[in-house]
Amino acid sequence: MSARVPEERAPGRIGALPNLPVFHRLRGRKAVIAGASQSAAWKAELLAAAGAEVTVLAGHAAGARLFAGLDATVLPRGWAEADLAGAAIAIADLPGGEGALFAVAARRAGALVNLIDRPEASDFTFGTIVNRAPIVIGISTDGAAPMLGQAIRGLIESVLPRGLSRWAAAARRWRATLKAELPDFAARRAFWTRFTQRALAEADRAPTEADRAALIAGAGRAAPGRVLLVGAGPGDPELLTLRAARALRQATVILHDDLVGPDILDLARREARRIAVGKRGHGPSCRQSEIGALMVRLAREGEQVVRLKGGDPLVFGRAAEEIAACIAAGVEVGIVPGISAAQGAAAAMGRSLTERKLARRVQFVTGHGADGTLPRDIDWAAIAAPDATTALYMPRRTLAAFVAKARAAGLDPETPAVAVASATRPEQAHVAGPLRSLPALAATLDPAAPVIVLIGQAMRGVGCETRSTAEAA
Ligand code: SAH
Repeated sequence: MSARVPEERAPGRIGALPNLPVFHRLRGRKAVIAGASQSAAWKAELLAAAGAEVTVLAGHAAGARLFAGLDATVLPRGWAEADLAGAAIAIADLPGGEGALFAVAARRAGALVNLIDRPEASDFTFGTIVNRAPIVIGISTDGAAPMLGQAIRGLIESVLPRGLSRWAAAARRWRATLKAELPDFAARRAFWTRFTQRALAEADRAPTEADRAALIAGAGRAAPGRVLLVGAGPGDPELLTLRAARALRQATVILHDDLVGPDILDLARREARRIAVGKRGHGPSCRQSEIGALMVRLAREGEQVVRLKGGDPLVFGRAAEEIAACIAAGVEVGIVPGISAAQGAAAAMGRSLTERKLARRVQFVTGHGADGTLPRDIDWAAIAAPDATTALYMPRRTLAAFVAKARAAGLDPETPAVAVASATRPEQAHVAGPLRSLPALAATLDPAAPVIVLIGQAMRGVGCETRSTAEAA
């Protein structure tokens, strides 16, 4: 086994964006709207709400009436090039050719252009908004699914308490003097960490001076570094526990396995360091002792270290060694359990791991011993029990040997078995059949994917999704 230097991943690996969401400061700046329609009136209201000096060229008196009551200068005539001088932003609801002329003139004047209902000809588009000023959330589907965007807005509206506005406003007030009150950077970070917890937990009431005093008193003691062993679950981010998600948001450093996917790492703060310390079954790996030493060193430097492991950290995760390393070094260590691969795979197959009479116990075993071969100390009598469900982790290299020994110990070769690759992930695949044909079936699964094998009567009736048993038997 060769050692590998932990590889540090840059925090920003951003997927392609159809548009860049930005927040445009418009207070006191000129905005021009040409044309008259309900949409134009709605945009005028938005721009005025953002503090812009809005001029509307409504075309005619009837058009101008659509803008009645808005905080805008509304002129009952068409637009002219001179109207655009000094504009930061220009919007038009005009027929095609005229809209194009308006766009050219507006860009010449240095304005960003939006042509209503013509995103392809616009410099920017308007998203759907959730307003908790000073917090503003913009939602865009790039025109792909406006109704979905509205529904997302509804979801966010329902989970974001309105009172957050008051806490954010208080944050702005308090920030002004905080540097003088808490000169230490770590103390200020602790202040804002605790402020955020309180704001989310108690958004229904307005923050008070007593809150500020308590937060300042608590922040003087900078939080000491610590280590949390966190279960990332089998792959689907929805299968993280709430506590795991919170631990990820609060971590300053994340040491993660190869098994943990980018969609889960994305739940961490952007500025958190992500360090891959993978130990993929057969490839090069970091030595366990190096991982332990790294964890301890980071925690001593004051970091909030999350050691993120696939599945449950306490199942074939070498957690005991990491816990011992922390305790030996006097570093505080905690555990956030996760959903193990066996549970994820059983759920994905729609099967119970236990069943009255048929499956009275569940046993987790590994097919991968310390030297990479089938462990020699497996309890074969237990594996051969007809009323057990066996979850075989890391089965790939040794499955044929495992099945041969299990049969030799008396396990019926017709026992139902299934091998699930990448359980709970989008690329999940599985093969199922009698135990005797499982090694050949499992060989057809993607060799790079993590695979778990479930054996026992509880798995009866699981069909093969793609490959037929006959093909492999
Ligand atoms: N702590 C993990 C197991 C780590 S050992 C847990 O509780 O699940 C790594 C092995 O777990 C892999 O070789 C594979 O056998 C299994 N495994 C992890 N995630 C899996 C997944 N999504 N699908 C199938 N098997 C998985």
